Amino acid sequence: MAKKPLIAIHGGAGTMTQSLLSSSKETDYLTSLNAIVAAGQAILAKGGSALDAVTTAVCLLEDNPLFNAGKGAVFTHSGKNELDAAIMDGATLNAGAVAGVSHIRNPILAAKAVLNHGKQVFLIGKGAEAFAAANGIELVDSDYFFTQERYDQLQAALAIGQENVLDHDSQSLSLNHINSDPIDPKNKLGTVGAVALDAHGNLAAATSTGGLTNKVDGRVGDSPIIGAGCYANNNTVAVSATGTGEMFIRGVVAYDVSALVEYAGLSLEQAAHRVVMDKLPKINGRGGIIAIDHLGNIAMPFNTEGMYRGFGYVGDAPKVAIYKT
Ligand code: ASP
Repeated sequence: MAKKPLIAIHGGAGTMTQSLLSSSKETDYLTSLNAIVAAGQAILAKGGSALDAVTTAVCLLEDNPLFNAGKGAVFTHSGKNELDAAIMDGATLNAGAVAGVSHIRNPILAAKAVLNHGKQVFLIGKGAEAFAAANGIELVDSDYFFTQERYDQLQAALAIGQENVLDHDSQSLSLNHINSDPIDPKNKLGTVGAVALDAHGNLAAATSTGGLTNKVDGRVGDSPIIGAGCYANNNTVAVSATGTGEMFIRGVVAYDVSALVEYAGLSLEQAAHRVVMDKLPKINGRGGIIAIDHLGNIAMPFNTEGMYRGFGYVGDAPKVAIYKT
């Protein structure tokens, strides 16, 4: 018997600390996280599906320039925005993903269209954009994604020759070098994601990202890779990840949590902790995950200073946090 429906979201992990984040920025993040958890709860409260709840939550995160996905995405080395997203339905194991897209306003909607279409799982670049257009998904000029803050973060990363800056690590980078808010080279990761359990006992997961500041053009991280940055299976868990993508791919992080539950008999909490706090650090993987199971248990471990995160069971007030508690 499933527990109360629930949604959990993240807005990226990294080196954000209370001293680096201004109190007004902190309030902006917490207010946004709260509203987005509430939007997901409202869908689940009406009997909506976990898939719809995670899609809506990730769309809202993509539309919010505070987060590194959709509007507010970070820049590649050559100053482009190349976006990645994935979504998975735990009831059917159907999945959809897009990578390297620069004109789809909400990449998660394109991923969902790939899932719904059912013939392919993963489309990239121009083919993904053509597929999105053919399926009635909004395309935008690439300058839609421009934000001064992310551009300044790229300039700061270029100035110090720092490749692959995690979005929320760049806060420290920005403060040191250009006196603007968010993104850090060693510490600040971006990416957004959501996992949900609905009243029918179904799980779903969704992840969307602009990737890493100053990433090599064409680079794809873990976020759109099913089993690495996103995974859902009604028999085990739903997981969305954020962190240093290369290590999350090598660790097959989201599926590893599922496998530890399925084959090793670990609880959700034990499996999530093992992967994020034990296995990932051994390969220099930095970041965190949000994970839930079909019983409504929740785990949100991260091995960075902070992770923007929130969750809410239907009927309860959302709980949101940034730093370690
Ligand atoms: N995992 C994302 C990537 O490597 C970045 C992040 O989560 O901040 O593209």
